[in-house]
Amino acid sequence: MPSIARPTAPVIDTLVVGQGLAGSLLAWELEQAGQRVAVIDAPSRGAASRAAGGLMNPLTGPRLAPLPNLQTRCEQARAYYARLGTRLGRALVEPTPIRRLCRDATERDRARETHHPWRGAWQNDAPHHQLSAPFGSLDIHHGWRLNLTDLLATLAGRWSIANAITTAPFDWTAVHSRGQSARWQGHTVGCVVSCEGAAVAQNPYWRALPLQADGGESLVLKLPIDLIEAVSAGFTLLPLGEQRYWLGATHSPGHAASGPTVAGRNALLSALAARLSAPLSIEVLGHFAGTRMAPPDREPVLGRHPKQSWLAIFNGLGSRGILRAPDSAIQLSQHLVNDTPLPPALDLLRYAAHLPSF
Ligand SMILES: Cc1cc2nc3c(=O)[nH]c(=O)nc-3n(C[C@H](O)[C@H](O)[C@H](O)COP(=O)(O)OP(=O)(O)OC[C@H]3O[C@@H](n4cnc5c(N)ncnc54)[C@H](O)[C@@H]3O)c2cc1C
Repeated sequence: MPSIARPTAPVIDTLVVGQGLAGSLLAWELEQAGQRVAVIDAPSRGAASRAAGGLMNPLTGPRLAPLPNLQTRCEQARAYYARLGTRLGRALVEPTPIRRLCRDATERDRARETHHPWRGAWQNDAPHHQLSAPFGSLDIHHGWRLNLTDLLATLAGRWSIANAITTAPFDWTAVHSRGQSARWQGHTVGCVVSCEGAAVAQNPYWRALPLQADGGESLVLKLPIDLIEAVSAGFTLLPLGEQRYWLGATHSPGHAASGPTVAGRNALLSALAARLSAPLSIEVLGHFAGTRMAPPDREPVLGRHPKQSWLAIFNGLGSRGILRAPDSAIQLSQHLVNDTPLPPALDLLRYAAHLPSF
């Protein structure tokens, strides 16, 4: 079993700030590489990983266009979470068939024109359970769901037992550069990695990076229907079991979420209601808000500061964090541990003009 640093230890190889998806996978990878890792996280109302449904829908957008290298990337991410689940003794990944209900005639015509082996049978206008589908619907294969809530809670529990996680806001003014390392509260720290999601906007070192916010909200509902597949219809309705469903998500490009809003809740409930062929009793069990962060090229942003090697960042997972996080966490871990070069497409240095000069 790899060693886990305790925050009481004098030397911490890597201090991970933020335990969303990015910080969780990075801390896990570093731990597996034998590093002494400490994690610090403060619950925030804008944490994307707590609002996400965890669905990996391989064909999205009005054209149902596959991402480049989709098959490989999708399968690699699924296999990663399945392996992690085995290590943690949790079933983290669930195959999830998806039914896409076309929103209008344009979408229907485009969907009919494009072909992909992961697209299933076309249905004309048959309603899907109590959901109407006047413009037709089709199946999407190879979808899956990551139980992100379970992943985050299981890792936090494990680090808590090892005294390797602290629940508190991290104060960046308490870190002092010592050249190749830093001092923080009596510890020598090899590297401090910001995995802060939207809170990067308040980070004294990284706030100038061109990461754009897209706030979003989601709900957890109790609905008297028994879907086994996720429904994608402009919104996503994702079965969680026992007639509980995740419903998401809104988008507010250019705005970070400051918390759940009445407008967000109403927008989601109205979108669902417009699809119901008969009124249903809907009970709202939970309401979440979070912020997706992405740079202009929509690729994750990783790496160490070129002059202050104790300072690093992992951010920019955007709206497909579940797909992008595993490979990014592995790349950054190998970079921090072995100095393995980062792929230029992910390397922080592509935004060198936005870094503090020191
Ligand atoms: C509504 C919504 C739905 C989504 N649905 C999906 C989906 O179905 N599939 C998908 O692939 N992606 C989805 N996403 C995107 C996905 O959630 C993100 O890409 C991913 O979760 C980002 O993870 P992160 O760790 O970078 O950031 P976050 O999850 O925001 O984590 C940052 C963490 O750092 C903590 N933190 C920040 N600053 C400090 C500090 N100074 N001190 C201590 N702690 C700090 C925060 O509290 C938080 O816990 C969705 C996003 C939203 C908002």
